[in-house]
Amino acid sequence: MTIPAACVDENPYDVLPLGVCQLDSALRVLLWNATLEAWTGIARSEVIGRPLTEFFPAVGHRPLRSRLASVFEDGVPLVFSAALHQSIIPIAVPDGSVMPHRTFIRRLDGDDARAIVVLEDLSQPMGQLEKLRVERRRLAESEASLQRRQAELRLTNDKLQEASERAEQACRSKSEFLANMSHEIRTPLTAILGFADILLSEPDAAMHRSSAETIQRNGEHLLAVVNDILDLSKIEAGRFQLSWADASPAAVVHEVASLLKVRADAKGLAIEVTTEPGVPDSIATDEVRLRQVLLNLVGNAVKFTESGRVAVTLRSVGAAGQPRIAFDVQDTGIGIAEADLQTIFQPFSQADTSAQRRFGGTGLGLAICGRLAGMLGGGIEVNSEVGVGSTFCLTLPVGKTTQSGVAPAAEPASAAPDTQPSDKPLGGRLLLVAEDGPDNQRLIEYHLTKAGAELCIVSDGEQATRAVLGRDPTAKPFDLILMDMQMPVMDGYQATAALRAGGHTGPVVALTAHAMEGDRQKALAAGCDDYATKPIDAPKLIATINAFVTQAAATDA
Ligand code: ADP
Repeated sequence: MTIPAACVDENPYDVLPLGVCQLDSALRVLLWNATLEAWTGIARSEVIGRPLTEFFPAVGHRPLRSRLASVFEDGVPLVFSAALHQSIIPIAVPDGSVMPHRTFIRRLDGDDARAIVVLEDLSQPMGQLEKLRVERRRLAESEASLQRRQAELRLTNDKLQEASERAEQACRSKSEFLANMSHEIRTPLTAILGFADILLSEPDAAMHRSSAETIQRNGEHLLAVVNDILDLSKIEAGRFQLSWADASPAAVVHEVASLLKVRADAKGLAIEVTTEPGVPDSIATDEVRLRQVLLNLVGNAVKFTESGRVAVTLRSVGAAGQPRIAFDVQDTGIGIAEADLQTIFQPFSQADTSAQRRFGGTGLGLAICGRLAGMLGGGIEVNSEVGVGSTFCLTLPVGKTTQSGVAPAAEPASAAPDTQPSDKPLGGRLLLVAEDGPDNQRLIEYHLTKAGAELCIVSDGEQATRAVLGRDPTAKPFDLILMDMQMPVMDGYQATAALRAGGHTGPVVALTAHAMEGDRQKALAAGCDDYATKPIDAPKLIATINAFVTQAAATDA
């Protein structure tokens, strides 16, 4: 018989800690691995091509022989642990005994003339094969755990990547926001400063008037931008407080329509309000914020519509058990292109930048509205067609109301407390004004003296406390102190606290450019009775002062 060279030379089974040989049906050895050489002391070159019975006569014994024959004939694999008489390759160890081992015999796939024989050493506490199996299992487990770890790492990596992209995006948005904010603030400022120059250099009275009007218009726009930015940053920082109470949706809508009537009338537009049957008289919401959102939506409808109409419809929507109310604000205006619908709720985005020049606006309104609607538990949807018009639909939950009944009369609320009809509502009042800015001193002096007040003006908190606590008891006391909160030497908070500690009980009204949420609380906590913000709204400030001094006079009487 010719033995293939590969059988004689080293074979891949040499590396295994198992004895491996191959036999043909006449039990001739076709393959003999290095482990068998080591265990039996029989070299491969010796055994290959010769019957195994020559080396191990017991293989020729009948019972074993017939079992081996069945491997070839029936293809039934054999597995047996070595009892000496059963072992086809009894392996002697140095003390002369047989190494305990297990034998596996199996016919080769597709070849009924050859069988593979594998011997496993059982002398070790754990058989080699078992060891291999355990090792393989361990490897498989550690590979699986490695894969799990890799998957986790990939996930963490993805998350990190996402977070980093979000951070970058936030950073970019913040920079864009700041750039936009700067632009929005500089634009009206440019007009204010430019027209102030003209006002100073131009002798023409008509030019004076139009310059002053431009300054006023741009100043008001600047104030709107700053207020919007404050609102938005408060919302984004999660510091925006809502105050929930029952409110009449119909009344709020009528109020908004009434506030915007002048603007709509100027363009020849009617604002039609319809309340469909089934709309609740009262919903649980934050009325001020609802009004703010509707003012913006209806204000935009009026702003972006040149002809036709603006309609506000209140509808009852939502499933039973989860009633909702919808406010549809529909116009016949310029409409919004499909692509812009995605961005108009983002800060500083305006569908058409040329429209900004035409219509004005900050591009912050819808960003605030969208967020406020979300905070109120609802949302805003838009449908629009360029040249045809837009419908903004605000939906809100009805919530649990504590009242039911007829909606209150739809009267617009007055923005400020009524001032006295008198020309000199503060006539005969002595006020202490603590304010460090000379321009603001002059401005306050102008308005308050015009309203009849007598003023004592100081530039910091220390001077204010000295002026009050060190005042000659026979001198006329101050009727009210108007206290700027941010001043050099001693600020308004410290000064008010010092005044209260020194026994001063008269009214102190904080006047501050800090218009953030919490500033009011901070001023009241320092001992102030009320709070007014800069820029100064003169009629409102005079009304506030008047209310305090009149009240104090009534208490004294
Ligand atoms: P703005 O102060 O510019 O009105 P908004 O955030 O309220 O800012 O609106 C963003 C942009 O959405 C507007 O500049 C305008 O392009 C578009 N828009 C909003 N409402 C309407 C509307 N009713 N009709 C047409 N365009 C609108």
